[in-house]
Amino acid sequence: MDFGINELKAIPYGKRLKCAVCEEDLKPPIIELPDLPLTEILVNEKQETNIGFIDQNFHLCENCGHGQLSTIIDPEILYESSYSFRTSGSASSVSGNDFFHEFIKQVIKNRQFKTIIEIGCNDLYLLNKLKDDAERLIGIDPILRKSDEILPDSRISIIGDFFDNIDLGDLAGSGDVLVISSHNLEHIEEPRSMIRKLLEYSSQDTLFIFQFPCIETLVEENRFDQIFHHHIHYFSLQSFEYLLNNLNAKIIDFTTNQSHWGSLLVAFKKGNNKGTFASSYFNLINSEKIIEDYKIYRKRMFLTNEYLKASKFPLYGYGAILTLPILAYHLQNDFSAFEAVLDDDKNKEGLFYLNLPVPIMNTSKINDFRGGSILLTAINHLRKILPKVIKLNPKQIILPVNSI
Ligand SMILES: [Zn+2]
Repeated sequence: MDFGINELKAIPYGKRLKCAVCEEDLKPPIIELPDLPLTEILVNEKQETNIGFIDQNFHLCENCGHGQLSTIIDPEILYESSYSFRTSGSASSVSGNDFFHEFIKQVIKNRQFKTIIEIGCNDLYLLNKLKDDAERLIGIDPILRKSDEILPDSRISIIGDFFDNIDLGDLAGSGDVLVISSHNLEHIEEPRSMIRKLLEYSSQDTLFIFQFPCIETLVEENRFDQIFHHHIHYFSLQSFEYLLNNLNAKIIDFTTNQSHWGSLLVAFKKGNNKGTFASSYFNLINSEKIIEDYKIYRKRMFLTNEYLKASKFPLYGYGAILTLPILAYHLQNDFSAFEAVLDDDKNKEGLFYLNLPVPIMNTSKINDFRGGSILLTAINHLRKILPKVIKLNPKQIILPVNSI
């Protein structure tokens, strides 16, 4: 957590001018997010100055249906300063990866691969689950660069480097290969060049299965708090299919996972253009729909905040999610009137968000919630945490959204 707060007083960034999928010029943004806070940075002390804010813009490309941000923050700022977390430490990541694993098994059935490569393998949770499906499994992830990872199986090896630095010829050159990637593509500035490189090194039989957040489900669930600086890309089925077809690849199968970032899960391979999935998908989106739905989202956040401001009871948040500053941003409430944001993770005890003047407190520190109000701040996992909060028996439970 020792990254130098001063660096965040002038955040380095670049500007995208062209669509990352079809390379058309970006039209003006459909959502402007002035002073959008940085997320995922926890610090030891409450910050007295307002830092970690930068203007962001969300664009939808009308040509290919791709959603994207145009302010691209230096990845070192975003990732070096982050509170690090690994897949197994987060219940939501585990369930998201279990769902992804089920989809992979549904697509590959009993097929045995020579090699399975995972791009962004995190703590090897997924590769470990797939270890009987290949002769060798290779995880690629720069976060593993400095760590002495204990490999869970002799068939698994890791490359602790950025994807761009890796010679794929060595990895994908021969035999039956499966390439998987979970929640990686949305973070990369140039997903088109990454997929082009992968396809170049693959054979006709190489199978790809990726998952990433999806703009259709974001709009469907009215979850505009899922737009934040780390996620540069918001693929639609239409834009992902456009990208693949344009690079002479095709979708084989897809599904969505509403409860985990509204993820889109897609299996694809090399092949002639067959752009049929998106055109048959029921939920094509457009700028007008997103603008209208964003207005509804803003109204909902306004009403929740009015309710919070009128509360006469001690207020607590429940769930110190890493994107909490985004919820605070849309609520226009910095939680300074809150006693604490509660969390069951003891490692977060006493920490603060870079840009929110409220401490994180372990839930077990409070014996009696009967006089208090709890706002469910862990908005990505509301179904999971609601039963826990009901057990705490507070005076009020406040939901920031209307449906869960
Ligand atoms: Zn485009």
